[in-house]
Amino acid sequence: MFKQDLIDFSFAELQNFCKDKNLPKFRASQIWRWMYCFGIKSFDEMNNISKLTRELLHDISLISRPQISEMQISTDGTIKWLIKLKDNSEVETVFIPQDDRGTVCLSSQVGCTLNCSFCHTGTQALVRNLTSGEIIGQLMIVMDYLNDWPSGKNNRKVTNIVMMGMGEPLLNYYEVCKAIKIMMSDDGIAISRRRITLSTSGIIPNIEKTGIELGVNLAISLHAVNDELRNKLVPINKKYNLETLIKSCKNYPKLSNSRRITWEYVMLKDVNDTSEDAINLIKLIKGIPSKINLIPFNPWPGSLFETSTQKNIDNFAKILMDAGFASPIRKPRGQDIYAACGQLKSNSEKIRKSQINKLVPIHNF
Ligand code: SAH
Ligand code: SF4
Repeated sequence: MFKQDLIDFSFAELQNFCKDKNLPKFRASQIWRWMYCFGIKSFDEMNNISKLTRELLHDISLISRPQISEMQISTDGTIKWLIKLKDNSEVETVFIPQDDRGTVCLSSQVGCTLNCSFCHTGTQALVRNLTSGEIIGQLMIVMDYLNDWPSGKNNRKVTNIVMMGMGEPLLNYYEVCKAIKIMMSDDGIAISRRRITLSTSGIIPNIEKTGIELGVNLAISLHAVNDELRNKLVPINKKYNLETLIKSCKNYPKLSNSRRITWEYVMLKDVNDTSEDAINLIKLIKGIPSKINLIPFNPWPGSLFETSTQKNIDNFAKILMDAGFASPIRKPRGQDIYAACGQLKSNSEKIRKSQINKLVPIHNF
């Protein structure tokens, strides 16, 4: 018999499900708390629900987790999971522990349709949107592994979420939005919108909606400061050019000194890393509360680009800093695993042991 997977439900959908099954309304709140405050997967453990109801729930529903195909732990504590979905496609999820936070990087699609020329994910043939259950499932797996339940405990290990894994989150707006609302739910995982960052290559029609509906931090994959170059690096720029992108960022709701746009800028040797580029970047984002993440390019097999020299990266960062911008250079981490942004590509080359030492580090968030 078909069993409904409760991980696919928003709270309102769970309420409707309970109503359909003639269960009282408060059952939905109880189940929600067990699932998202306590990480419980088995109805047997829901001890404030009668045995009869638990048996009914067991007969008609389940609470699943995606399957873990592979897990790699870096010597610096960074962990990467290769996660297998019900149709056997795979996505990657990363946990990055730092002194003051623990960040989970979630995927929003299998692959990506946008083909940014420096990004490995964009080269993957198979692309589909993840469901909200598959997005939230990635986070649940991380919290299970880290023993990070109940969500209300002190010293949580997972404190921050970045939608920076595989895929373009704003091309899967509905499911991403649903999953983020579950993450933010006070009666559940309860991660504040201030600790959630969504990264987009600039899908303009959904940027303002994100601000209004979710109010999470926005990161923009900028990477170039003129349309000619950005058309080549981030081809969606042909549809949504820099002028419209900057305009929609200026209008992003509730921007302030404490709520800034993060601009992501991948440092590509001899492509976008000159002093002139830095100066034009400053001009472009003038007046927008901003911080800039400089990401040394992470090469992947067959990539056409090289990483900028350290001298050029330092020079670029200094120009931005002198102009008053916070512009951290993402530091390499997890030298021994293969999990850098832009390198994620599932169903792809499995890493052979002999290759591992040659692999490229992943960066901080
Ligand atoms: N699709 C979304 C989010 C996922 S990518 C986006 O593009 O914003 C997360 C970040 O890694 C983006 O800024 C992306 O441009 C960057 N990135 C992609 N490939 C990279 C690479 N090879 N080296 C460094 N950063 C890369
Ligand atoms: Fe897609 Fe982002 Fe990679 Fe571009 S950088 S191909 S939008 S995942």
